Amino acid sequence: MYKKILKMIKRYDAIVIARHIGVDPDALCSQLALRDVIRLNFPEKKVIAIGTGSAKFAHIGKLDKLEKLDHALLIVTDTPDKRRVDSVDFSQFSSVIKIDHHPFVEDFGGIELIDEKASSACEIIMKFLMHTKLQINSSIVELLYMGLVSDSNRFLFDSSTPELFSLISYYLDKYPFDLSDCYQKLYMRPLNEVRLEGYIALHMTVTEHGLGYIPITNEIIHEYGVDSASAGNMINNFNFIKEVLVWVTMTEDIKNNQIRISIRSRGPVINHVAEKYHGGGHKFASGARVKTMEEAMKIIDDLEQLLIEYQSEVTDNGN
Ligand code: AMP
Repeated sequence: MYKKILKMIKRYDAIVIARHIGVDPDALCSQLALRDVIRLNFPEKKVIAIGTGSAKFAHIGKLDKLEKLDHALLIVTDTPDKRRVDSVDFSQFSSVIKIDHHPFVEDFGGIELIDEKASSACEIIMKFLMHTKLQINSSIVELLYMGLVSDSNRFLFDSSTPELFSLISYYLDKYPFDLSDCYQKLYMRPLNEVRLEGYIALHMTVTEHGLGYIPITNEIIHEYGVDSASAGNMINNFNFIKEVLVWVTMTEDIKNNQIRISIRSRGPVINHVAEKYHGGGHKFASGARVKTMEEAMKIIDDLEQLLIEYQSEVTDNGN
């Protein structure tokens, strides 16, 4: 598979690298790292990384202007389904490669490099690069490390295996960079966001079955002076609360006339609930977009029901 990917990259003079809408560090870093590796090794090729950026991640790296390239190869990172690929018309590309760690949704019609067990798309790219003789450098490794650390939520999940730490150790040893500077790029945030986090902690409803949920309305977003995307990303800061097994933020996004539902779990598998509402994601980290708070509350009801079933199974098993 790695050889096939490299062969395909070598074959094309024009390459476009895309990822999912609602950019996050793994999506961004995987596409930028891949772009930079190809540029470093094949300076004669035209390679662009595209998609809507976010001011929050602007200091991580710069995306390229969208432009139409003839006879181009499309590489999509961190995205399992075509409908969520940002700024891409698949019909305009001659070949496609997918590099992803989400549960499989659909075949893009080209090479599919999928590892559901991987912490991140960046990890998969690290492994791919290790199996090639492509030249890399410390800034490329820093990008890959950033995406990996972000998507594994600093190594909190089962994807943090000894193999993963060996992989990281190999890269950090060979291509050192300033780790504290890297964490600043990833985690520095304004006080407003911390204050909003405090608001969420204070106002989250927690049911007796362990479901935590909170609507983050446009009013609240304005009151705290944050943007909707940053508010939606706060979900990742509420892990390891004793009374909460599944937690949900319902973030109003006025600009796109939708409510972003973010769901996390450290108990039952939740992605099938997200899928029921045309969303998706990982077993324990999923999301969906709905139009109204009423619809959002239906998801809450389903998750509460899921937790009731989960708790009774746990009790039946004597745990
Ligand atoms: P989020 O809570 O928005 O960070 O999303 C968590 C996970 O769910 C990510 O892996 C997303 O790819 C996935 N996800 C979020 N929203 C959707 C959606 N509308 N459709 C499919 N997958 C989604």
